[in-house]
Amino acid sequence: MDSENKVNNKQILVGHEKFVEMISAEQIRARIVELGKQITEDYKAKLPIFISVLNGSFMFLSDLIKEVDLHCEIDFIKLSSYGDQKISSGKVKTLKELNADISERHVIIVEDIVDTGLSISYLEKLLKEHNPASTKVASLLVKPESLKYDIKVDYVGFEIPNKFVIGYGLDYAQKYRNLSSIYVLSE
Ligand code: 5GP
Repeated sequence: MDSENKVNNKQILVGHEKFVEMISAEQIRARIVELGKQITEDYKAKLPIFISVLNGSFMFLSDLIKEVDLHCEIDFIKLSSYGDQKISSGKVKTLKELNADISERHVIIVEDIVDTGLSISYLEKLLKEHNPASTKVASLLVKPESLKYDIKVDYVGFEIPNKFVIGYGLDYAQKYRNLSSIYVLSE
């Protein structure tokens, strides 16, 4: 990131827009430890497969599985998302398919953020066609006020207001994924 964009560790300027820190790296770390413990407890004696939804969830996946004290596997899927916009197009396509065979497997979908729930609802239908033994969803962030689809997020990192956020894997026009905290667009 351009250092001139960073006002300090708590604020970032993107053109005329200002983002302020909403969830610190320490808060993220602490919550992920809790989620990891919960998953470890829930999947005892099982071999879960984590399916990370690219690109945004790669950082969450990486930190989450380090806190899971079980053998596990990972795979990646890529869905079309917002493009370079801040508002969803309302349509989803698969841009990269799964490689693993998930039939009879315990699947944990790993998302960075659930907004309307469209991506998860699309993904759950898609995965069901492969007959997994079970499917659960872990999302670092959920915007409860924006939910439009009938989906359940089993492992929620943080519930946040219906505002645009960046950092910790989440982008703005493909940039800012490398921030270690979550920043929200301030009005
Ligand atoms: P949904 O399908 O639930 O409406 O949206 C999920 C996807 O939209 C996320 O995986 C993410 O790519 C994108 N998204 C939703 N809200 C935000 C946000 O506040 N910031 C960023 N960077 N992406 C978001």
